[in-house]
Amino acid sequence: MSEQDTTVIETAEGAELPSDALVVAENVHKSFGRLEVLKGIDLQVKRGEVMCIIGPSGSGKSTFLRCVNHLEKLSAGRLWVNGELMGYRQKRGKLYELREAEIAAQRSDIGMVFQRFNLFPHLSVVGNIIEAPVQVKRVPKAQATAKALELLERVGLPDKADAYPEQLSGGQQQRVAIARALAMEPSLMLFDEPTSALDPELVGEVLDVMRDLAENGMTMMVVTHEMGFAREVGDSLVFMDDGVVVEAGEPAAVLGNPQHERTRAFLSKVL
Ligand code: ADP
Ligand code: MG
Repeated sequence: MSEQDTTVIETAEGAELPSDALVVAENVHKSFGRLEVLKGIDLQVKRGEVMCIIGPSGSGKSTFLRCVNHLEKLSAGRLWVNGELMGYRQKRGKLYELREAEIAAQRSDIGMVFQRFNLFPHLSVVGNIIEAPVQVKRVPKAQATAKALELLERVGLPDKADAYPEQLSGGQQQRVAIARALAMEPSLMLFDEPTSALDPELVGEVLDVMRDLAENGMTMMVVTHEMGFAREVGDSLVFMDDGVVVEAGEPAAVLGNPQHERTRAFLSKVL
């Protein structure tokens, strides 16, 4: 495909990275047909920061996370991760849409863990973890396997290397999903309600792994209903409603002294 075939966006002011934050979202809009789901999201996540995102169902939290790794194409606005303008290459003041393979390369720097454990059912735990490093990064299998075993140790599952997903509890599967994302050595980890589908007694073991990651400096964006986690582990807390950021700040401040009526109404239901 030549550049002539790709979408070109004229940018009067260019598309300079506005700061040294790891994630920069600038006026992010997303519509599905006539439904405007994101109505201009501006936020920044510093390196090593843990940002928790809360808000009612349907407020656009998942859509926003999917925009961060370009699983959804923005309708307007721009998004940088680790210095890369997601989805575009800039040349002589114009932006050219990247091809799918190039977007995949950008995305390989971002790990994502979903609500539903989406492990490959036909692969063992180790098979799941080494799949992307071997297939995408061409890491030699022995090296990828050694790293996978280290990661299993880290998520507290050193003896599950040869198990299959169906033999594991939901909490164990989710910890494998985290190990699988870490195997690509991402700069950023996205979590979309990682504990919402778990039985209550399994939530803690997944949050413990996430807390350990945070303490080791991982930059994380976490959509969650776990207010205890947000308060204790989060560096920042964002409350989204109806496609906008209503309020953001230090978790203790947002939770303890919300400034907006919509935040107060939401918190009164979940706290
Ligand atoms: P949240 O994660 O905060 O619950 P979502 O981002 O999943 O919210 O959804 C926000 C809105 O966008 C909802 O109204 C949802 O139905 C809509 N939506 C999400 N994905 C799509 C899609 N692929 N096509 C059409 N509508 C969508
Ligand atoms: Mg969601």
